[in-house]
Amino acid sequence: MKIIGHATVLTFGENHKVINDGAVAFDEKKIHAIGTTDELKKRFPKAKIKNVKGRLVMPGIVNNHMHLYSTFARGISLKDAPPTNFVEILERLWWRLDKALTPDDLYLTAMIPLLDAVRNGVTTLVDHHASPNCIGGSLEALAKAFRKCGLRGNLCYEISDRDGQEKCDAGFEENANFIRALKLENNSDLTAMIGLHASFTLSDTSLERAAELMKGLNTGVHIHVAEDQADNEDAIKRGYRSVVDRLHKFKLTGPDSIFVHGVNCDAHDIQTLGLTKTNVVHNPRSNMNNGVGCAPLEKMMAEKIDVSFGTDGMSASPLEDLAVANILHKHEARDPRKIYGEAWRMFTVNGPKLAHKLFKKKIGVIEEGAMADLVVWDYIPPTPVTEGNTFGHLTFGLPFSRVLTTICQGKTLMDEGKIAFLEEGEEEELCARSRELAQSLWERF
Ligand SMILES: [Zn+2]
Repeated sequence: MKIIGHATVLTFGENHKVINDGAVAFDEKKIHAIGTTDELKKRFPKAKIKNVKGRLVMPGIVNNHMHLYSTFARGISLKDAPPTNFVEILERLWWRLDKALTPDDLYLTAMIPLLDAVRNGVTTLVDHHASPNCIGGSLEALAKAFRKCGLRGNLCYEISDRDGQEKCDAGFEENANFIRALKLENNSDLTAMIGLHASFTLSDTSLERAAELMKGLNTGVHIHVAEDQADNEDAIKRGYRSVVDRLHKFKLTGPDSIFVHGVNCDAHDIQTLGLTKTNVVHNPRSNMNNGVGCAPLEKMMAEKIDVSFGTDGMSASPLEDLAVANILHKHEARDPRKIYGEAWRMFTVNGPKLAHKLFKKKIGVIEEGAMADLVVWDYIPPTPVTEGNTFGHLTFGLPFSRVLTTICQGKTLMDEGKIAFLEEGEEEELCARSRELAQSLWERF
């Protein structure tokens, strides 16, 4: 048994508590107890206590929409004129970058952001992968990086018709093979879904096939939805009311599916998502960066949709998305009262709830029986922390602090800033190799 003590413990979850001079007792199976440091010392007299001197301890962060493959895009120069809209961003950047990826690139495109995840206290990531010229085996390459880091991951390959039938078929095969292989492996920290790019690059036949596969493998789909109005315009051209209407008619909505963005969802769409209990992931920084608009978050939450945060590849941690959502929705509505309760719930309740569904275990909360995913921040609260004001510390304090210790499933992945699973000099070597591979990808791009 290990104990982190003399901490300011934030539990998150439906019954969020702040415990001053608090402690958490845990091992690799679960969290055994939480309480004050004195209480836990008496209960577990033989346990070793790590004294964090009042620093903040909270659950490992969950990122519900990530693109690890976007790693080599940092600093890339586009060869064409700068894109003027969302579809051009896909055509001139992402659909060229994903085609330039080779099997050699995949492991490092995952390792680099996963190291960032560890450094930023993110212990669970839901990824959406694309590499049209190396589809078969691509998810296993990413899984290898998750295993090396000891992080929890849900993976999928984004099926699309945009590159022809052969690649579409290969996408289906990769998802199905990987899901079946994981079921045999019985590793509860790696799970998978069926990835779909977006309605506007998928034929009716592919959507039908995805629905069948979803039923056959007892899982959901992870898909971009109405990120830009162009996605709706395409669905309307095909004879549907909207993207959500089209996906719903193909039975792809539901509590096992993740619909990402929903920026251009109207009241009718939002009602459909609410009634079908479809999960929605909000990525405010990505939406702002692509200039696609601001998702109708308040309306979604009013329909009791479980909206949570993702980063869409912008970085490993959605903590910054929480801070940005807090100001974006006030700015958008020109109303400083907006979004406190919604953003708080998305980060501390809904994010963990979706992870719980995907991994079938309690994640993202500090309570007895939950997985021991713990983060110690180098943040000694300079103002009182209470159940009612934790949001203020999350949005105005933590984004400017660093993580000292990251623990996933009771295993220490980083302590006092040192990554536990890398040898001396290994991180420098990984980054050097990453720069080489990125340079060569930029030449192929
Ligand atoms: Zn995305």
